[in-house]
Amino acid sequence: MPTTAVTAPRAIPRAGATDPGGVTTSARCRFCAAPLARSFVDLGMSPLCESYLRADQLNAMEPFYPLHAWVCDRCFLVQLEAYVEGEAIFSDYAYFSSFSDSWLAHAERYTDEVVRRFGLGPASRVIEVASNDGYLLQYFVRRGVPALGIEPAANVAREAVAKGVPTLVEFFGTAMAQRLAAEGRQADLLIGNNVLAQVPDLNDFVAGLAAALAPHGVVTIEFPHLMRLVSENQFDTIYHEHYSYFSFLTAEQIFARHGLTVFDVAELPTHGGSLRLYARHSGAATPGIEPRVGELRAREQAAGLAGPAYYEGFAPRVEETKRALLDFLIAARRDGKRVVGYGAPGKGNTLLNYCGIRTDFLDYTVDRSPHKQGKFLPGTHIPILHPDRIRETRPDYVLILPWNLKDEIAAQLAYVRVWGGRCVVPIPTTQVLP
Ligand SMILES: [Zn+2]
Repeated sequence: MPTTAVTAPRAIPRAGATDPGGVTTSARCRFCAAPLARSFVDLGMSPLCESYLRADQLNAMEPFYPLHAWVCDRCFLVQLEAYVEGEAIFSDYAYFSSFSDSWLAHAERYTDEVVRRFGLGPASRVIEVASNDGYLLQYFVRRGVPALGIEPAANVAREAVAKGVPTLVEFFGTAMAQRLAAEGRQADLLIGNNVLAQVPDLNDFVAGLAAALAPHGVVTIEFPHLMRLVSENQFDTIYHEHYSYFSFLTAEQIFARHGLTVFDVAELPTHGGSLRLYARHSGAATPGIEPRVGELRAREQAAGLAGPAYYEGFAPRVEETKRALLDFLIAARRDGKRVVGYGAPGKGNTLLNYCGIRTDFLDYTVDRSPHKQGKFLPGTHIPILHPDRIRETRPDYVLILPWNLKDEIAAQLAYVRVWGGRCVVPIPTTQVLP
């Protein structure tokens, strides 16, 4: 349970003065150290999105922090200031990857692909940084490929060990990577899925990847693609736990600075559109660079990701997305319709807090994770119930908060049609599903 984050987060003081309107910052880019001067989007004040509350915490004061993303004018890294220390956020993280069927299927497909492509076997070593509950490494273990997980949340790491995945309970960085290297435990395949965004010290982390990688090893890193975030209005994927938002152009620069060359890239449907980069030491002669690398680089340049105007157009579209969702909810409630939520993902908390949606609009939400049932969403205090409640209460609309899984969830919810219920997604704009 994320009680650490609720009761003891330590806010990081700002480095210097800001203007009273809060529209400037004295912060510097976490990659290139240029001053941050250009706002990307300001989502107001929000609680930490994984700080689910127990009933006995509902009357207590709740910490809110600014959720304001900036874009660097030099390297175009979109980023939040680190408002709260990482250990407060991640040491007892409630997210268990294995509760999504489609995410597990994605993990197994990935395993098959890389085992074949890079010829991994019993003599190889696979290391995953932020290995969560072993959702991915379990497939390597089953195929007889030695695997090691690194996961800072002790309760999540315990689940991995129970699956037979050896796991070190630690934060990954350069110091830890050098220790692994000194112990002769460099990785032939080094994996980081959905962790790069969550690293406060980006340079220390990527330098660590280089240090932990065997001379002819391969790193694969997956992260949500900034170009998709912008083109599909995925502003709710911005939350305090995600410090950085990467285009391909910016990610490639970051890897290059730490001696890693991106030799291939895949565009994936996960998390609303992700990139998987394949990188190796810049000094290694192989694998050769695939044409997809140059193609994506050119596509991002043509879309304008290397200039400021692209980033400035985002905030007005976010505001319009909020108005559209509120229009729908106001009309539905005036009409006497009952609306509930499905899922309690971090992105739902950004959306609901930014839009000011509480139990005046959503009676409750449901989640398959027993770790969340019986709790309340941070900030909005919407109760999280067991999915069976939908069948019992027969709502008119079910708002799917993890819209990235909307096909999977709409299929699970097909039964709401029996009483005329419909599913709704809020992103890229409010849409009642056919
Ligand atoms: Zn920068």
